[in-house]
Amino acid sequence: MTARVDIDAARARAAAVVDELAADLVDVARRIHARPELAYEERFAAGLLAGTIAARGLAVERGAYGLETCFVARAGSHAGRPHVVVCCEYDALPDIGHGCGHNVIGAAGVGAGLALAAVAGDVGGRVTILGTPAEEGGGGKIRLLDAGAFDDADVAMMIHPAEADVAWAPHIAATSVTVEMHGRAAHAAAGPWHGVNALDALVLGYQAVANLRQHLRSSEKVHGIITHGGEAPNIVPDHAAGVFRVRAAKEKYLAALQERVLACFRGAAEQTGCRLEYEWDPVYADLVSNRTLARRYQANGEALGRRFFPDPDRIPLSVAGSTDFGNVSKRVPAIHPMIAMTPVGVAGHSVEFAECAASPAADRAVVDGAKAMAMTGVELWCDPDLYPAVRAEWEAAVAGG
Ligand SMILES: [Zn+2]
Ligand SMILES: [Zn+2]
Repeated sequence: MTARVDIDAARARAAAVVDELAADLVDVARRIHARPELAYEERFAAGLLAGTIAARGLAVERGAYGLETCFVARAGSHAGRPHVVVCCEYDALPDIGHGCGHNVIGAAGVGAGLALAAVAGDVGGRVTILGTPAEEGGGGKIRLLDAGAFDDADVAMMIHPAEADVAWAPHIAATSVTVEMHGRAAHAAAGPWHGVNALDALVLGYQAVANLRQHLRSSEKVHGIITHGGEAPNIVPDHAAGVFRVRAAKEKYLAALQERVLACFRGAAEQTGCRLEYEWDPVYADLVSNRTLARRYQANGEALGRRFFPDPDRIPLSVAGSTDFGNVSKRVPAIHPMIAMTPVGVAGHSVEFAECAASPAADRAVVDGAKAMAMTGVELWCDPDLYPAVRAEWEAAVAGG
């Protein structure tokens, strides 16, 4: 019974710290929203979040792990209890700004981390607040994994804004390919027979991908853009380029789909006499959400008055996106709950979603997300039965691929 009382007290204390910080956290989320920055250029956001941590007296290392816009702050000590890493994202999208609400993720992560830091000493826990740049492209967390940022972690957590509270939502494996076609320039009217048309090759490849789509599983996605299509209409284009994203339910199914997509462009190059060059980005792994821990997050969220989507396992993979947190979830047990921020039906990566990311609902998501994560972290430290169960579930899930 004593342990039970300790958990309640520590959880309440962590939530109270978030309440103290609430006005600052909301202000930080709003300011990051007003100044969106792209992958690896998030200098303002990283500086603001790091400054918020430093203002609470915690040492912050900026530019950590060789990434200018990464930061890390540590608190507590290793007393045999799980080391919790709270991840903060803060990058935005081209043109539509915070259409994925990463300003909310960053502020909530700092709030949760500071609340856990405040109780870590008493409870004997250890927490790291990790600023993770470049989720929308560039795979920041993949670079951080390679640099050792998660080597001594036992658990990783973050929240993501969405249209509903969902304890675990599917995220599928993904990668991108940059495709370049090289042909030969010529006068488009006076000597087109001297030319080799790189734009034709790219368009043929694009259309072949469109035809391929009919025969993909509902969980498999290919979508892309043409980024370069020539210099002038009276010159046969000698160079055309595009970027295509390829997704499959799991990492282990991705390679076969990558090969089918590549075949579309190889065939197009062959037909036109162009030379194909391509380069794949690192793979974003599918997300392994830890149900045992996510249920605790859900209970804490419900205690804050949130209502959760009843059966996350019924969410089809056809509506899933991807995240580089998937790679983290294959290294350590992890949760990535979705937190309600928009009315139902608002699509991610849209102008409407970006507007919702600076709203009273976004402010509530920052505060509730911080509290629910902090309360869940406290339980990992105070309930001796929890981490072994989390770990056992994770080992079985990762072994199953
Ligand atoms: Zn996104
Ligand atoms: Zn996102």
